Amino acid sequence: MNQLLPHLQLLDDRQETMLQQVIQLCDINSGTRNLAGLEQVALQLTDLFGSLGGQLRLVDSVPENLLTNRGEQLDSPLGQSIHIVKRPEAKHKVLLCIHMDTVYQQDSLFQKCVMREDGTLNGPGVADAKGGIVVMLHALQALEASPLAEHIGWEVLLNPDEEIGSPGSRPLIDSIAKGCDFGLLFEPALGDNQLVSWRKGSGNFSLMVRGRSAHAGRAFAEGRNALVAAAKVAQAVSDLNTDPEVTFNVARIDGGSPMNVVPDLAIVRANVRVRTTDEQVAVEGQLKSVAETFSELDGIEVSLHGGFRSPPKPITPEMESVMQRIEKCGSALEMDVKWQGTGGASDGNKFAAAGLPNIDSMGPCGGRIHSDEEFLIVESLVPRAKLSALVLLDFAKQVAGL
Ligand SMILES: [Zn+2]
Repeated sequence: MNQLLPHLQLLDDRQETMLQQVIQLCDINSGTRNLAGLEQVALQLTDLFGSLGGQLRLVDSVPENLLTNRGEQLDSPLGQSIHIVKRPEAKHKVLLCIHMDTVYQQDSLFQKCVMREDGTLNGPGVADAKGGIVVMLHALQALEASPLAEHIGWEVLLNPDEEIGSPGSRPLIDSIAKGCDFGLLFEPALGDNQLVSWRKGSGNFSLMVRGRSAHAGRAFAEGRNALVAAAKVAQAVSDLNTDPEVTFNVARIDGGSPMNVVPDLAIVRANVRVRTTDEQVAVEGQLKSVAETFSELDGIEVSLHGGFRSPPKPITPEMESVMQRIEKCGSALEMDVKWQGTGGASDGNKFAAAGLPNIDSMGPCGGRIHSDEEFLIVESLVPRAKLSALVLLDFAKQVAGL
């Protein structure tokens, strides 16, 4: 392992370059629905990653199927993914993936990076996950600068829709998963040397409640109030919270009508988190039975939409072996890697479900993600790039039989 460390030296003085690249990427808004912004970020990344010399292509997303507040199914367009393949003929390949989109939409007040005196960078997507994109880039540069690189291939996926559960890039995720040995994803690390092991599964569900509208004064009795029924459905869903590890978060009820009309439509939106596939199946059954129970009310019909975009990601033996490789590389760099599970889902869940063991918190350290306090610990950029680079070099060395 120690003979690999000289290959990392070129990363030693990269901090300032990496910081400037993060700022450049974060100063362009790329909220998931901002397709023009995503295109601009993709253009910059095509440039940055082009120097690695793989085959780069832009891949269209399948549109996202949405249930609108008016109860209609709608196909909403999503941005393009960048997919790069280097040495496609290699027998052994590593997947490297992270998303280009952020949770901050075009109308958000949080748009620019600010350097803080404590050495952190505050900005939209600095940790989640544009800092991770830059860490990935430099790790690959270190690999490609080494003669060991020729022993392995790699595929990069930079997708535009992770923050909404990657509905548009899912087919690409499933196809790439089949051709690689393991995956590294560059979501932010949890804390100092704390990486994510298992992740819960996450599902988004909509229970659409239909009633019957009527004049609130002239024909009140003829109406069947969908909003009131939806409130009961929301309570019933929330009552499913009996295990603190299996959670039902009723996030929103869309619907209602003018004051003089009995409302005929309301939609209950809820997010559910589970640890295992068994729990996932059970939860789907529970929600189905809530819909059925309330459909028995006079004049009310409830239909269930949505599902688990991110299945649970448990620790499997295959994943344990990737964890061990990362621990080994960590200790060569005097990083004492620690593991922690989390309720948050990522594309790591989808790759795992498609059969690819992966570690998905190889990005830099930071915090307060999904808020305007999001920050990146600038000093973590180089060490994180070294860790991923060493994992790649170690794998290449093993494949080469050295
Ligand atoms: Zn993320």
